[in-house]
Amino acid sequence: MRNSGLAATGSQVPKENGNGLNRKSLLEALESSGVRLTAQRRALVEELQNAEGHLDASGLLERARRRNASVDRATVYRTLDLLKKRGLVDELDLMHLHGEKHYYEARTGRDHIHLACLSCGRIEEVTSPLYDELKKQIRAVSGFAIEVVRLEVGGRCRVCARKGNLKTAKGKQ
Ligand SMILES: [Zn+2]
Ligand SMILES: [Zn+2]
Repeated sequence: MRNSGLAATGSQVPKENGNGLNRKSLLEALESSGVRLTAQRRALVEELQNAEGHLDASGLLERARRRNASVDRATVYRTLDLLKKRGLVDELDLMHLHGEKHYYEARTGRDHIHLACLSCGRIEEVTSPLYDELKKQIRAVSGFAIEVVRLEVGGRCRVCARKGNLKTAKGKQ
C-alpha cells in the first residue's frame, strides 16, 4: 500500500473535510460564464463548495436553509442540474452505502478515487498517477474524449480492517 503510488487524503474521522484536494470554485466558474445567481442558488453553491466533500440533496438543502430559509427542494435539484451540465460537480453513489442516495461534490483539479468503508461508512479520497495514466491509455486506445471518470472502491478502511470489523454499514440501518 505504502509503495503503491496511492496517496490517501482522508483523516481519521468519518468526515471528508480537509483532504487537501483542490476543489474548483463553483461561484467563479458560474459567474465567469455569465450565470446569474439568485440568493437561494448562491447559498446552495456556497454550501456545496464549503462542504469540501460529499453531500446528498437533503443534506445540501438542510445546510443551505440555515443560511437562507427560502431555499426549497426544487431549487436544490435545479441548481445541481445546472452544475452537473456544466461539469462543475460530480455525482456519486458511493457504493450505495446509504441506499439510493446520490452525493455531490465540487470537481477537483485532479480526479480522485473514492474508497467507501462498508463497516463504518467513512469515505476516503485518493489520487494516483496510475489513475491519470489509465485515462491517457483509454484515450489512446479508443480515441474517446473523456469527460468524466468515476472509480469507487468498497471494502474496509484501515481502522476497521485492523479491528476485524465485519459488520456492514448497511446492516446497521
Ligand atoms: Zn471503516
Ligand atoms: Zn470525492
